[in-house]
Amino acid sequence: MKVLVINSGSSSIKYQLIDMTDESVMVSGLVERIGEEQGVLTSKTFPGTDREVKTKLEQPIPTHSEGLQLSIDLICTGENAVCTMDEIDVVGHRVVAGGEKFNHPVIITEDMWPDLTETERLAPLHNPANLGGAKDATKLFPNVPQVLVFDTAFHQTMPPHAYMYALPYEYYEEDHIRRYGAHGTSHKYVANECASLMDKKVEDMNLITIHMGNGASISAVKNGLCVDTSMGLTPLEGLVMGTRSGDVDPAVHNYLAVNRGLDIAAIDNILHKESGLKGLCGMNDMRDIHAAIEKGDERAQLALDVQTYRTRKYIGSYMAVLGSVDAIVFTAGIGENDDIVRAETFKGMEPFGMKIDTEINATRSKEARKISTEDSAVAIWVIPTNEELAIAREAMMLAK
Ligand code: AMP
Repeated sequence: MKVLVINSGSSSIKYQLIDMTDESVMVSGLVERIGEEQGVLTSKTFPGTDREVKTKLEQPIPTHSEGLQLSIDLICTGENAVCTMDEIDVVGHRVVAGGEKFNHPVIITEDMWPDLTETERLAPLHNPANLGGAKDATKLFPNVPQVLVFDTAFHQTMPPHAYMYALPYEYYEEDHIRRYGAHGTSHKYVANECASLMDKKVEDMNLITIHMGNGASISAVKNGLCVDTSMGLTPLEGLVMGTRSGDVDPAVHNYLAVNRGLDIAAIDNILHKESGLKGLCGMNDMRDIHAAIEKGDERAQLALDVQTYRTRKYIGSYMAVLGSVDAIVFTAGIGENDDIVRAETFKGMEPFGMKIDTEINATRSKEARKISTEDSAVAIWVIPTNEELAIAREAMMLAK
């Protein structure tokens, strides 16, 4: 079975064709600058193998549907084609927000569109592009199941006391304001991977999963189900991120409006794009922050301290939520690569049975690995996330 995974963004399309017999990637590609004067398509067939072939096309790509068509042409026709269109069995799409209705993956049917369109207001920057990609793919592959995999779905098992805000109740009923979380596909994937690496059933485990990249979120997973997560109505709440503030006093909005004369759009922009690590020290890439700390930059040190302190506080609160914790997993760009952030996050946690093995933690690897000491009561893991594979697995299971 071959699954095409599509992640359609506002001006880009990321895609992978995965052969599910051995879960190998046949093609991995990215269409960028859609709608700009010059679009770019970069793709690799059989990436990371001795059959790898790289392709780069530069030409105007006015619309997403033209971008997708170009990608399919590359996969299915021409000198580096890997299969025919008929051989693609399922198409899986990443969708950021599913609301309360879409709490599991679905095969698209025509009657779903009013409810799907309704989800767009929960993620106006992402969902229209995600769903647009699904519409385009339906036209190109009318007889192939199109599966939508929602980033919020894993978090739909949160109980009301975790997902409700203490706001007037009608805002929940009428405006659907509640906590939905994000990165759910990644949290679920690493939770399952951790269970299988520890030779246990995820249903028998309590886990804390930390997805820490440019965006960052942390989840409490009880008996395999999400019971709390740090992102909220939108992916702004929670941990300190590259440019996003994470948790702030909600009164900051009014304070900024009154004291600086900023309107709501400007404040929203500051919280999303000018805050987080970037707001604190001017840099949003952890590698730059470490380099600056080496040179004695105090603001960079502060950014690292605020970020790791916030994560540690969330770990502590999720220990209280879960009662007992079997394992903690780090994933995504910072989680997988940054031993300093991992070590700082667990500073002072030894009395809670969380001990990092400094040497193993500092060893660089692309593989999943346990970084806690043998006598650590809680196992601490680094597990590379693979959202495309997770989407492909979900899509295949549903379409089989
Ligand atoms: P992601 O959003 O998961 O792609 O993560 C991107 C972020 O991961 C970057 O902005 C960096 O802050 C961080 N990152 C990537 N590689 C490294 C690395 N080798 N060391 C530290 N941080 C890294």
